[in-house]
Amino acid sequence: MRSRYSRRDFLRTGVTLGAAAIVGRGSESMAAAPQSGATGAKRSGVFRAVSSGNGIRATDKAMELMRKGVDPLDAVIAGVNIVEDDPNDMSVGYGGLPNEDGVVELDASVMYGPTHASGAVAGIRNIKNPSKVAKLVMERTKHCLLVGNGALKFALAHGFPKENLLTEKAHEAWLRWKETMSDKDNWLPEQIKKMPEALQPVMMTHGTINCLALNEAGILAGVTTTSGLSYKLAGRVGDSPIIGAGLYVDNEIGAAGSTGLGEANIRTCASFQVVSFMGQGMSPEQACLKTLERVADKARRWPKSLGLTDDAGRPAFGLNFYALNAKGEFGAATMLGKAGYAVHDGRTNELRDCASLFKG
Ligand code: ASP
Repeated sequence: MRSRYSRRDFLRTGVTLGAAAIVGRGSESMAAAPQSGATGAKRSGVFRAVSSGNGIRATDKAMELMRKGVDPLDAVIAGVNIVEDDPNDMSVGYGGLPNEDGVVELDASVMYGPTHASGAVAGIRNIKNPSKVAKLVMERTKHCLLVGNGALKFALAHGFPKENLLTEKAHEAWLRWKETMSDKDNWLPEQIKKMPEALQPVMMTHGTINCLALNEAGILAGVTTTSGLSYKLAGRVGDSPIIGAGLYVDNEIGAAGSTGLGEANIRTCASFQVVSFMGQGMSPEQACLKTLERVADKARRWPKSLGLTDDAGRPAFGLNFYALNAKGEFGAATMLGKAGYAVHDGRTNELRDCASLFKG
């Protein structure tokens, strides 16, 4: 079957900015945004950047770059690179918490509205910026997703440096987790209470960064990047690199991304669902809440042994959705209790409250 997009369309949209990314690896690929006429996108007349609660620096950077004419996809990637590079964010990139073997494995995806193209990597080791590799998968292969060793080989072939991603802090956290995990194995914990607070175990946790952006020309793009669930089984892949789960962009409707328990998301194609609800006329916030309701409804059927629901059948896991529509309206919602998200609306960059489905 012939592709709907010719190579010329692909080039015209500016998606193949990868050449610049390769040459200037480690820096942003600063290329001019394609004109809306060339992409078929409908002018929005506004700039927006929306991210998860850990993404306030990402939205700031994405906005700064888009205003300089950088394409929204390059802008959001440059934004999340700040967090991937930050050893203090233990949920993403360098410094992320490792799997149960003490090895950091990262997942990331990107999606570009005008061409409906996507790229992703899963379970990639030793590469600090999986979001940049995901973009190269989109631009320089015919595939959507590369995993494990294959993803690493691909990144190395494109000149990414092989790095140790396990910081001392993350290693220490893994060691404490390992020692305190079970009283039936041969590992013995230190007296936890006597440990300085900084060394106390970081127990099962998750976190991720998602960032979505829209420029005046009406181009939507998104990225999601993570070290996934801490202490996961080696090889476990979460929702972040799965298009339709951790990220989805439809240039005519809007974009959505997610953080939280990936398994819940994968089983419900949740980011796709958020965008579909926006396509039916819901506001971004309503679409996020309605999707959470759907997930909560399905969660009631999941085996009790998964420990994902409480006695009343309510979800006992964290899940957040972030959404931005083609007009520039945005919203976010969380499953339980309170959560924040970052928004740059073109004037101010701030953390806002997500709507919540259950009070927590
Ligand atoms: N969604 C990520 C995963 O399941 C983790 C998170 O966002 O908390 O891998």
